[in-house]
Amino acid sequence: MRCQSLMEQRFSASKILLTNSCTSALEISAFLCDIDNESEVILPSYTFVSTANAFLMRGAKLRFVDIREDTLNMDERLIEPLLTPASKAIVPVHYAGISCNMDEIERIAKKNQLHIIEDAAQGVNAQYKSRFLGTMGSLGTFSFHETKNFICGEGGALIINDKTLIEKAEIIREKGTNRSQFFRGEIDKYTWVDVGSSYLPSDILAAFLYAQLENIDRITARRRHIYTQYLELLTPLTERGILRLPYVPDECTTNYHMFYILVKNEGVQKSLLQHLKDRGIHAVFHYVPLHTSPIGQSLGYRAGMLPVTERVSASLIRLPFYYELDDKTILRITSEIKTFFST
Ligand SMILES: *Cc1c(COP(=O)(O)O)cnc(C)c1O
Repeated sequence: MRCQSLMEQRFSASKILLTNSCTSALEISAFLCDIDNESEVILPSYTFVSTANAFLMRGAKLRFVDIREDTLNMDERLIEPLLTPASKAIVPVHYAGISCNMDEIERIAKKNQLHIIEDAAQGVNAQYKSRFLGTMGSLGTFSFHETKNFICGEGGALIINDKTLIEKAEIIREKGTNRSQFFRGEIDKYTWVDVGSSYLPSDILAAFLYAQLENIDRITARRRHIYTQYLELLTPLTERGILRLPYVPDECTTNYHMFYILVKNEGVQKSLLQHLKDRGIHAVFHYVPLHTSPIGQSLGYRAGMLPVTERVSASLIRLPFYYELDDKTILRITSEIKTFFST
């Protein structure tokens, strides 16, 4: 409860419910928006599997949209051609804590009466035109998984901006019962009132999370420092056209979730990853596009359908990025990258 109110205040959100993961929050969202086997959902292929699973689980048809070359977020210019009478929701994923073009996505959603469900797993405490990510769609989701900015091992949150969905969300999260209303003293017995599941986090993890949330600014300052170091040390390589670094549009305030580099092609990506691995540096690629995965192919997608997604997936490298990462290590990582490109 204390985590929830702290976040509601901090992010100016009308209602936030803690969940046991962002995956759970996405599943609740699909429930809440009445996604079923006659619905179509528009989402990027360049994302984590949970973004898609939540909707596939409800039987929805997934309409994957390609991403923009600059922010690596869903390309809002490609959404309208995908719309059909069955379209129910758009799911913007704010990659690396940098917002999608929400003005345009909101315009399209409003015009076509679609839900927006923001996957802000990576975007906690980041902003778009002074609005916090996760608070713009009918629903938004956060992750507190150990790989994210603010952590409690496993955890997440559902941000409910459409007030008409609050009561149903509480019921779904509480195994289909009205236990939340019971605890508030609004009813004298609690019972089974809808379909639901178990999406509550444990109090112990919530207590851990509370300490993280109290230190949001300190954690963010540290991450800003790491990000800035990488940026300064690697910018000379961009001038030589060897690689590209993250792009943050003017209207976006990042939360410094990750630092990635984009190299020329898959060959360079593979050999640089190996070069770093041989020197004990754990850098990783990001993601196998969902549309070329075995499940994506079983849904009728093929390589070649989303060219930007495929190109980015074959050229992106995520550099190590965690709170304790010190300047010396950052210097060593960037020197190894420079060595790789100078030979
Ligand atoms: C991490 C992540 C998730 C899943 O978060 P969990 O809390 O681990 O369930 C979903 N979507 C995106 C974009 C993510 O990065």
